[in-house]
Amino acid sequence: MQYYMPTKIVFGQGVIESGFDLFKQYGKKALIVTGRNSSKKNGSLEDIIKALDKNKITYSVFDEVESNPSVETVQRGGGLAIKEKADFIIGVGGGSPLDAAKVIALLTKNKANDENFFQTEWKEDPLPMIAVPTTAGTGSEVTPYAILTNPGIESKSSIVSEKIFPAVAFLDASYTQTLLREITLNTALDALSHSVEGFLSTRASDFTNLTALESIRILGEIFPFFLESKDIPFQMREKLLYASLLGGMVIAQTGTTALHAMGYSLTYFKNIDHGRANGLLMAEYLDFLKSRKVNQVDLALKTFGVATIQDFKLFFDHLLGVKEKITEKESLYYAKITLKTRNMNFTLKTMGEKELSEIYLNSLK
Ligand SMILES: [Zn+2]
Repeated sequence: MQYYMPTKIVFGQGVIESGFDLFKQYGKKALIVTGRNSSKKNGSLEDIIKALDKNKITYSVFDEVESNPSVETVQRGGGLAIKEKADFIIGVGGGSPLDAAKVIALLTKNKANDENFFQTEWKEDPLPMIAVPTTAGTGSEVTPYAILTNPGIESKSSIVSEKIFPAVAFLDASYTQTLLREITLNTALDALSHSVEGFLSTRASDFTNLTALESIRILGEIFPFFLESKDIPFQMREKLLYASLLGGMVIAQTGTTALHAMGYSLTYFKNIDHGRANGLLMAEYLDFLKSRKVNQVDLALKTFGVATIQDFKLFFDHLLGVKEKITEKESLYYAKITLKTRNMNFTLKTMGEKELSEIYLNSLK
């Protein structure tokens, strides 16, 4: 077994203020990478700027990261980091800004052509990167992955390198308090997906299973809240952020599986949010594994707090509301794309076009 996770985790309310001096060991000039709005609304950007000011660190802000970021965006950010002579990068926001920040850090030291971007060998160490997640789901703050849109394969592609583990992750659930219920739910579905897929991965180990099951257990406590209440209390948001962190630690070792790969097509072609895409397909994917005698599915369900796969399906039907639709032709096309992803190697049972297409159709009918 191997386990590598070099990120310093600082978790709790007010951690950027109390841990402000952690920034100073990374240099005198920072580039803050974020989306257009959320980090301004939720107070995270302000807290980071105060911490930088206290350390007399100057900074520039690159706030152009869109959902499912493109190669063009990270190239622009990389250019800015070089021009501004940044010593380190701070990624703040959901998965998209964090992943973009990782690639921008790489691009400050490595050249990559747009045409064969995803084949780039990232030989040089990137600038250090500090991650401040403001959603609870991606786990990107503790993973060696950055996921970008890849029109070349009509899907998303991951950059995988141990060099892009963030140096520090500051996790403060206060920043997730302004999130709408829908985004909170979608990101929680992503966290659940990470832990469930990591638990059902060919690369799972005793240690990742321990972490995955704890994450699934906590999420099982939180999910009923989405059915009952519109406001998610702070205490629950803190637990959710913790469960998401655990999910990130799991996939940092195991990677994700067919479920994430299938979800990428729903995001690429139908513009369905990443977490929701996984959530829409999860019950049928688990049912498939169960039908192939993967006994761990029962333990995952029990840990989540449901007795049977039918109960899980019913619960998810309530949770997801009206589902998006898909045609048979689309399902076959997406299945072909899914089969080409490296995620398929980590899936416990062999899946072909037929199995994948059936999961799509049964999930989105
Ligand atoms: Zn994900």
